[in-house]
Amino acid sequence: MNQKNTAWLSHLSEFECQRCLKCCTNPGYIYVLEEEVQPISNYLGLSGFKFVNQYCDLIEKPRLTLKTHPDGTCVMLKGNTCQIHPVKPKQCRDFPVRWRTKDAREYCEGLKLLTQHYPA
Ligand code: SF4
Ligand code: SF4
Repeated sequence: MNQKNTAWLSHLSEFECQRCLKCCTNPGYIYVLEEEVQPISNYLGLSGFKFVNQYCDLIEKPRLTLKTHPDGTCVMLKGNTCQIHPVKPKQCRDFPVRWRTKDAREYCEGLKLLTQHYPA
């Protein structure tokens, strides 16, 4: 893939998710903002403490992240469904249009299509 091609960046409004779930299965941090703890806890019917204790890790900086399974899959993915879809973290809602990793075009099927559509 030509990493120098940036034409697709002007067409992010045309992005269509292909439901490949790679953004939920690719290893990486899924940050949970402080203000997101209560809505997610409420949605799961848990106290904030229980949600953080059961589903989050505290990493350096310090920041909360969602736990992952050993293969890197987000703990909230059950089958093909995000268990907290209506209240999922901003990072998940923003991906990949408002936020993306440097290599997102390597795994996000929607971005791959956009790149193919606008190759230069
Ligand atoms: S919270 Fe939901 S959308 Fe975000 S990575 Fe986990 S399963 Fe995917
Ligand atoms: S990686 Fe891209 S295409 Fe696949 S589910 Fe996530 S946003 Fe949609």
